[in-house]
Amino acid sequence: MRLSTFFLHTLKEEPRDAEVISHKLMIRSGMIKKLASGIYSYLPYGLKALKKIEAIIREEMDAAGAQEVLMPAVQPSEIWKESGRWDVYGKELLRLQDRKGAEFVIGPTHEEVVTSIVRDEVHSYRDLPVNLYQIQTKFRDEIRPRFGVMRSREFIMKDAYSFDIDDQGAEKSYEAMYRAYERIFTRCGLKFRTVEADSGPIGGNFSHEFMVLAETGEDVILTCTSCDYAANLEKAEIAAPESLALPEAPQGSPEKVHTPNVRTIEEVCSFLGVKPQNLVKTMIYTTENGVVAALVRGDHEVNEAKLRRAAGCETLELADEATIEKYTGAPRGFAGPIGLSIRTIADYGLLGSGACVTGANEEDYHLRNVWLSRDARIDAIADIRNAEEGDPCPRCREGSLQAIRGIEVGHIFKLGTKYSKTMNANFLDVNGNLKPIVMGCYGIGVSRVLAAAIEQYADENGIVFPVPIAPFKVLVLPVSTSEEKVMDAALALYDELGSQGVETLIDDRDMRPGVKFMDADLIGVPFRITVGMRGLNEGIVEVKERSTGTVEKVPVQEVVGYCLAKLDL
Ligand SMILES: [Zn+2]
Repeated sequence: MRLSTFFLHTLKEEPRDAEVISHKLMIRSGMIKKLASGIYSYLPYGLKALKKIEAIIREEMDAAGAQEVLMPAVQPSEIWKESGRWDVYGKELLRLQDRKGAEFVIGPTHEEVVTSIVRDEVHSYRDLPVNLYQIQTKFRDEIRPRFGVMRSREFIMKDAYSFDIDDQGAEKSYEAMYRAYERIFTRCGLKFRTVEADSGPIGGNFSHEFMVLAETGEDVILTCTSCDYAANLEKAEIAAPESLALPEAPQGSPEKVHTPNVRTIEEVCSFLGVKPQNLVKTMIYTTENGVVAALVRGDHEVNEAKLRRAAGCETLELADEATIEKYTGAPRGFAGPIGLSIRTIADYGLLGSGACVTGANEEDYHLRNVWLSRDARIDAIADIRNAEEGDPCPRCREGSLQAIRGIEVGHIFKLGTKYSKTMNANFLDVNGNLKPIVMGCYGIGVSRVLAAAIEQYADENGIVFPVPIAPFKVLVLPVSTSEEKVMDAALALYDELGSQGVETLIDDRDMRPGVKFMDADLIGVPFRITVGMRGLNEGIVEVKERSTGTVEKVPVQEVVGYCLAKLDL
């Protein structure tokens, strides 16, 4: 491709609305262009990179036995009502009506569509297992789309769905996808970790996330210093304590102290001269089964996914002001476990707590010298807080957890029979009994893989593409286009690299060398061959490797072979 005619318009300035590196660089390198909030066009350079990733995904999905389909983006509301998600999916689901008033959604995911296809086509155990996948556009109406294509509203996803006759089969399908995902991200040239994850609103009972490691990542991953345990912050467990008994209290009673306008942990600590770990934080939540109080140490954070499991509920939300007042008798900031008549769940972290401070359920008052075993009614003690760096590993119990950051690019779930039961996707087993199909679902954020790759490798000068997903592997850069000898040599190299199957770009624009060098770094082509008069007079060109910055002088006759060897072609 000749840069003079390529639809690539780079920007020197950083876009004002871009916060993260990948967003800035994808805009500056002319890969994407914003149309509306969270909605982007892929321009030729961006699309080429995306196609590289898609090709790797297709090869590995096909090799793992999955079969490609293409399902519609617009889906009728009926199937969403059947699965029960029409009511629970919330505002991320973009709903619309056609001219007849029929309701539709723009698919944020395709469990409903694929399940409706399979229930119509599959009748017998002989038709199973089957795994169908697609690479397709999704829409999720994020409240705050940001970070370019990393958290956009419209995005490209690879989603696969497996259908098996039983759990054992479903586990095999899951394992096959797990291995395929490892190969996909390895082949994309990414450094990643596989972590245990919470299955969230998609449902199901088990899941893993694939995280591209990047200091700028939005997700926190906790990994063990001595074994291979790794989980995301939502899922990371706390090692279960040996005993669930609260420490025994001495005789006595809590002491009420006037704490006017003292509400936050920091305010209470400085007002009473205590440490956060001596405080009991009481959080009030509403669930579909009533109101629940969650108690954690002042220096810990409630983990809502864990609390949902501990409380045995599906929906969980922080209570509003009115609910807090109704159940605690005090405004927000003064709740405490003593005298509460609602279900109260305490975190493991409180098992070591002796005399502590809590809210008094009365405006402007706290209680001191509270012993939970003596003064409060606790219904359950469970793991309901976020794990933190330094916590002991829940798996080996020898190492401790350390926090690293990552970007979620893949997520696989065992769904069980959640959708097949609600949507009647059944089959006849070998004995002629009707059974629900056991499902799994497997997603890769294709556009996000691209952004994550940029995020992982970029430097201060621009994108550094890993070779496998680079749109072009080599950039030939003639320093001057007006010197015939230079242009002839550059074009000869360009042609020869092309004939050897190397995707090559030539910067044949009549521009200052400085601008060309800056653009070369910005767009991140792995190898740059600089062709200049001085070098040619000595029979050499310069090859710069973008990832290391190393520059080597290579004889003109050898440079194609040199590149082929470096690219491992
Ligand atoms: Zn461990």
